[in-house]
Amino acid sequence: MIDFKIPDEIKEVITSIDKFIEREITPIKSKYQKQIENERYYYDEDGRFSKEILDAMREIRMKSAEAGFYNMFGDPALGGNGDMFGPIAVALVHESIMKKHGYDPLIMEIFPGGLFTNGLTPVLLGLHPEVKDEILPGVESGETLLCFGLSEPDAGSDVWSMKTKAEKDGDHWIINGTKQWISYSPYAQYSMVFAITDSELFAKRKGGISCFLVPFDGETCVNTSVIPILGHLGGRIGIVSLENARVHEKYIIGDLHQGFGKALHGVDIGRVVMAANCVGAAQWALDLAIDYANERKTFGVTIGQHQAVQIMLADCALDIYAARNMLLHCAWKMENQESIPIKEISMIKAFSTEMLQRVADRCMQIHGGMGLTNELKLEKVWRWARSQRIPDGTTEIQKNTIAKRLLKGDRSFI
Ligand SMILES: Cc1cc2nc3c(=O)[nH]c(=O)nc-3n(C[C@H](O)[C@H](O)[C@H](O)COP(=O)(O)OP(=O)(O)OC[C@H]3O[C@@H](n4cnc5c(N)ncnc54)[C@H](O)[C@@H]3O)c2cc1C
Repeated sequence: MIDFKIPDEIKEVITSIDKFIEREITPIKSKYQKQIENERYYYDEDGRFSKEILDAMREIRMKSAEAGFYNMFGDPALGGNGDMFGPIAVALVHESIMKKHGYDPLIMEIFPGGLFTNGLTPVLLGLHPEVKDEILPGVESGETLLCFGLSEPDAGSDVWSMKTKAEKDGDHWIINGTKQWISYSPYAQYSMVFAITDSELFAKRKGGISCFLVPFDGETCVNTSVIPILGHLGGRIGIVSLENARVHEKYIIGDLHQGFGKALHGVDIGRVVMAANCVGAAQWALDLAIDYANERKTFGVTIGQHQAVQIMLADCALDIYAARNMLLHCAWKMENQESIPIKEISMIKAFSTEMLQRVADRCMQIHGGMGLTNELKLEKVWRWARSQRIPDGTTEIQKNTIAKRLLKGDRSFI
C-alpha cells in the first residue's frame, strides 16, 4: 500500500520545533530586530556579520542543541540522533519550517548548515579519537563552527583542477593554497581543508586528495575576506588562505589520499535539505501570492480574476507539487533502498532549486511593485533561490550526473 500520511513522530517533532521557535527564537529576533531589519547593521564594514547577528546565531544554535534539535539528524556514532530520524524526517521538517517562515537565515541556524558541512556531520567520523575529544563537545553544543573547504578559485565543478597541496614534514603536513566560496569560513573556528597529498594518484584521478581539519589560527590559516553576493552588503561565504599551515597528521580526517570520498560523504543529505528548503519556501511564497491575488483589485476585480494571474498561480502549483513529490519519493528511496539513489538525488537538487527560482519570480510578479520591496521578503527568497542553483553541484553538473546514470542503464522512476 502506498501511504502518504506524515508519520506521527515526525508530526510531533514539527510541532515541538514550532513551539521552540515561538518560545526561544522569536524573543531573540525581537532583541536583534534593528540588525535583522537593516543590512547596514546586519553586517560590519568589512562584510562580516555584526557582533549582534553572530551572538543571535550562536544563541539560536546553542538553544537548539539544548532542546535536542541541533543534533537530531547528526551521525549517531558521533552522538547525534540520525538513527531515529532519516531522510524523510529531514525533508518534512525542513519543508515545514520554510513553509511557515520563508527564507529566514536565523531560523535556519536551528540545524547545522546542510547537515554535512557543520555539526555532527558524517565527515567527522574519520577524526582521530584525540581530535574528536578536542572538538566534538563544542560542535555538539553549537559553540564551535566548522566550514568545508573544497572549492578553489580554479576548482569548483572540476575538483581535479585543485591546486592546494600538503607536503609531509615529519609527523606534520604543511598546507599551501586558497579555498574560495567557503560557507561560514569568516565565522568558523576550524576548516575542513581538501589538499593534494599524492600528486601521482591525483594526476591519475585515483585519489591523492586528503581531508585535514585545520584551525583558523589567524596566521597560517586565515579567512582573508567575505564575498558579498547578489547585492548584499556582506555575506556568509569567504576566502580561506593557507600559507605554510602546519598541521599534525592526527588532524587528517579518514584515510590518507582518499579524502575526496569524505567530501561526498554527507553531500546527499545536504541536497535533501536544500530541496526541502526550496519546496517549503516555494509554498510560503505561493501562499502570499494567493492571498494577494484575492485582495488586490485592478479594473474593478481582484487580480486573481485575471487569467494571466491565474496561469502564474497554476504554474506555481504545478512546480511545487512536482518538486514536493520528487523530494519525498527520493527521501523514501534513501530510507528504504539499499543503493543510494544517485540519479534522484541529483534530480531533486536541480529541479527544486530551479523550481523555487521560477515560483519566487512569479509570486513577485503577481505582487507588482510590492513584490520588489524588501517588506514582503519575496525578493529575499528569490535572491536566495538564485544562490542555491550553484553550490553542492550546479544544475548543469546535476544534469550530467542524471544523464550518465541514464546512459548506464538506470532508467527506473520507481
Ligand atoms: C552560496 C555558495 C556557497 C558555497 N559554499 C561552499 C562551501 O561551503 N564549500 C565549498 O567547497 N564550496 C562552496 N561553494 C562553491 C560551489 O561548490 C562552486 O561555486 C560550484 O561547485 C561551482 O563552481 P564554480 O563557481 O567554480 O563554477 P564553474 O565550475 O567554473 O562552472 C561555471 C559554469 O560552467 C558550468 N559547468 C562547469 N563544468 C561543466 C560541465 N562538465 N558540464 C556542463 N556545465 C559545466 C557550471 O554549471 C557553471 O554554469 C559555494 C558556492 C556558493 C555560490
